[in-house]
Amino acid sequence: MPELPEVEVTRRSFAPAIENATVLAARAGKPLRWPLGCAPELLVGRRVMSVGRRGKYLLIQLDDGVLLVHLGMSGSLRFAADLPAMGVHDHFELATTRGTLRLHDPRRFGAVVYVDSLADPVAHKLLGRLGPEPLSDAFDLAVFQGQLKRHKAVIKSVLLAGEAVVGVGNIYASEALFLAGIRPTVVSDRLSRPRAARLHAAIVKVLGQAVILGGSTLRDFSSASGQAGYFQLQTMVYGRAGMPCHVCASPVRQIKQGQRSTFYCASCQKP
Ligand SMILES: [Zn+2]
Repeated sequence: MPELPEVEVTRRSFAPAIENATVLAARAGKPLRWPLGCAPELLVGRRVMSVGRRGKYLLIQLDDGVLLVHLGMSGSLRFAADLPAMGVHDHFELATTRGTLRLHDPRRFGAVVYVDSLADPVAHKLLGRLGPEPLSDAFDLAVFQGQLKRHKAVIKSVLLAGEAVVGVGNIYASEALFLAGIRPTVVSDRLSRPRAARLHAAIVKVLGQAVILGGSTLRDFSSASGQAGYFQLQTMVYGRAGMPCHVCASPVRQIKQGQRSTFYCASCQKP
């Protein structure tokens, strides 16, 4: 599943190239998770002003309206001057004066949604409850510490819930908790302020590094320019059950939390 760093890397890979392009044609394939919300032809003639991101949504700002793009479980975007005809798993494309942007999504949990503006109720429903962006100044330490004090769930679940901070998915939650030396089973409101501060710093570091490195490994991810398979993250604990911790050589443990696998080092991460 593409996590925030993958979405951000995707954004950076085509945002400058598509800016100022005019839409020549829009085509939809099979239904995605949510409907487009307008006839594809309505998009013809619009100009692409910029491509932003909020959580795992890409926000393609048009001169009139916004396209919200979510990659779901298995989606990937390509942007190229010349693409072959849409295949069986290609479910949306925007042909523009600067190239064609195409969503490939075999499992169809992704979506492209048109809204008049971000004030639209549909946009509000999708984006309105997202927590602060971890890679921006909006991710304030004191606010984060306050959020953790408000929750009695285990810290890993609070991170995944996306209210204290958006976009910390399963891989990066395990990695950030390792870096902060915090056991994933610690109850959120029991974390001291210094430990919460270490977690805050760890989240920024882990996600920032992942964006720089191009994100984590995804079997079916390709960046928008079509370079597949360069997402290789050296994880400290995620996916390393039974293998020696890189810091202390104790075997990395794996547990289930809310149906999701969590990895941690019992020696480096304190309860
Ligand atoms: Zn260790």
